[in-house]
Amino acid sequence: MTVAVEFKKVSRHFGAVKAVDEVDLKIDEGSFFAMLGPSGSGKTTSLRLISGFDQPSAGSIHIFGEACETAPPNRRPVNTVFQDYALFPHLSIRDNVAYGLMVRGVRKNLRHQEADEMLSLVKLDNFGDRKPAQLSGGQRQRVALARALVNKPRVLLLDEPLGALDLKLREQMQEELKALQQRLGITFVFVTHDQTEALSMADKIAVFNAGGIVQIGTPEEVYHRPRTKFVADFVGSSNLVPPQISLDLGGQSCWSSLKPEALTLTKQEGAKVVGTVKSIRYLGATNRVMIQVGETELSALLSNTADHWTRGDFVGLQVKPGALYAMEENT
Ligand code: ATP
Repeated sequence: MTVAVEFKKVSRHFGAVKAVDEVDLKIDEGSFFAMLGPSGSGKTTSLRLISGFDQPSAGSIHIFGEACETAPPNRRPVNTVFQDYALFPHLSIRDNVAYGLMVRGVRKNLRHQEADEMLSLVKLDNFGDRKPAQLSGGQRQRVALARALVNKPRVLLLDEPLGALDLKLREQMQEELKALQQRLGITFVFVTHDQTEALSMADKIAVFNAGGIVQIGTPEEVYHRPRTKFVADFVGSSNLVPPQISLDLGGQSCWSSLKPEALTLTKQEGAKVVGTVKSIRYLGATNRVMIQVGETELSALLSNTADHWTRGDFVGLQVKPGALYAMEENT
């Protein structure tokens, strides 16, 4: 498998702020790679280092095997789609898409032809003559995508590209982006702080925290087998189960992660672990039930067609086999 992008001990410090700190990273060619993490964890800085808009303070970056940390953005086989789209308001949609080709001196007929092909690719066939202000948010987002793709990058960088869209449109665009990536076979590097978005779209996810990557894996790996408490909490809001409770629930005697949907409630008689129902929140298809077990509060996601519990009930706790995952970091 060809490696599209590789970081070797890459750091980017701004004075005392370690925006990116000694990061090692490999992104396979043709993959959909998500950088996931909270605000300020170093995702955007990492993306800017790949694009060449910023340079590392230490370490080296390789794109398709070539060291490139000093190459300017236009000398890299990479293009970026920004969250705010950055379209030129006075140019037509067609000229916006053709802009990169114009800069490179491609003659008008040819660049308009290629721009129209890209507009067709993002399902905006008849929008070429309009201005950006005459488009909806979702349509502008597609124009930004077409404008990046017209340069035929081998790696497309997307910085929170769906952040400005409402939930429904966002979900629709998630599917479209994923389908487009599969059709084109280009490497996509996608920055998001939305774990659902990363889980549903990516082949691999790098979870960032405080300038470092705490885990890289498939969506299934980071969701079901988080390495640290941070990942367990950030990706899918896992319960953090202390050693004694973990052991009684059939797991190992160490801190373990447990997904709320893997926890079920029973009558308290005969149960090894019992607790008190603290609250029940109605979420539509499911209820989120909080249970107090000694000092620990656990969250269960129950189908609301299941047994009905009320606040103050004493309940027994059960987990699905294999659902308790022992974490590497154990404090
Ligand atoms: P968000 O999701 O909010 O965009 P992020 O994970 O993309 O966050 P970065 O933008 O990479 O985070 O920022 C990482 C850290 O580096 C932050 O603490 C930020 O304040 C700092 N930082 C980024 N750029 C600069 C800069 N030019 N000068 C000083 N500090 C910076």
